[in-house]
Amino acid sequence: MSNKVFELMKEMEHEQVVFCHDPKSNLKAIIAIHNTTLGPALGGTRMWNYASDDEAVVDALRLSRGMSYKAAISGLNLGGGKAVIIGDPSLKSEALWRRYGKFVNSLNGKYITAEDVNTSASDMEYIHLETKHVTGIPEYMGGSGDPSPFTAYGVFVGMKACAHKQWGSDNLSGKKILVQGVGHVGQYLVGHLVEAGAKVYITDINAERIKETSNKFPVEFVEPADMLSLDIDIYAPCALGATVNSETIPLLKCPIIAGAANNQLAEEKIHGRQLIDKGIIYAPDFLINAGGLINVAAEASGSYNREKVTKDVEKIYNRILDIFSLSEKENITTQEAAMRIAQKRIDDMANVKSRL
Ligand code: NAD
Repeated sequence: MSNKVFELMKEMEHEQVVFCHDPKSNLKAIIAIHNTTLGPALGGTRMWNYASDDEAVVDALRLSRGMSYKAAISGLNLGGGKAVIIGDPSLKSEALWRRYGKFVNSLNGKYITAEDVNTSASDMEYIHLETKHVTGIPEYMGGSGDPSPFTAYGVFVGMKACAHKQWGSDNLSGKKILVQGVGHVGQYLVGHLVEAGAKVYITDINAERIKETSNKFPVEFVEPADMLSLDIDIYAPCALGATVNSETIPLLKCPIIAGAANNQLAEEKIHGRQLIDKGIIYAPDFLINAGGLINVAAEASGSYNREKVTKDVEKIYNRILDIFSLSEKENITTQEAAMRIAQKRIDDMANVKSRL
């Protein structure tokens, strides 16, 4: 991989990648900064037991690029960055987070971190002891806490926009919806869907999470291996990426895909086109899951207002409808349409910033 990192950075147009290592705290982290035209790169830190360092590098590069587009399309003045920590999440410690916090601090605000998969507001609290460049810290410390409720609300709102497009009504009552992954975001999403009167199916690989969700809400559990045989209205991927791929698309029986996971399409162009050919509406991941970023961006701005954040998250509805219109007009996939709008804002602002 070492001779390929620059090739990949060139291909995906990254500015900087930082490798952080501290054997004493068992820290192996990669901070990827994609584009800082709009502002400092903000993106969460994911902890995952990657099968290889190469896999971690590719994940950090893809996720950070997605953050640039997410911020740009959401009208935020932030760049795109993301960090991954290679290791078993059950072994995380105060020393690991504080050492990592020092690495974040060494970037002097060019990268601002937050929660992601397997990291929590209390982990951010440790990072905050070493750097102020961290968001999503607990409310009792003046932060906005876990961003997941806002991510889930944005997905819910975006799903309604998809329903409006597909069926002419955004009423989700009676719709059969599968939520894959009932973690931080998935559980809040299930709450909104149940409240809206949907028939909710859940799947997960974590027995504790399945039990928690089933105790809280009237849901039906489906084994992960059986989920593709379900006849449903909406599939909401809320676990990990690349679940929409050449194996799953032929089997999917749903007119809408709308969920929180990042990088849902294994191959953006190929699989985006296959979904159109199959008549499946796809809500671009980095647009529909931007609620959490909108929330932490407000926290980072220093003037946090929950009501204003909620209103800003609701703008996802119209943004999704705009993307569907552009996709149809230009005969491009919804992912390409969203990337085009995001890239245009980055280019426009680069031009504005280069002038007196
Ligand atoms: P999480 O770790 O809390 O939850 C993920 C859940 O998916 C877990 O319960 C896990 O057991 C389950 N899972 C993993 N592999 C699975 C599989 N193969 N089949 C079924 N379930 C599986 O993470 P989260 O914070 O809820 O985030 C979920 C997704 O949304 C991630 O892709 C994340 O990057 C994305 N996302 C999260 C936020 C946020 O605010 N937390 C914001 C934007 C995007």
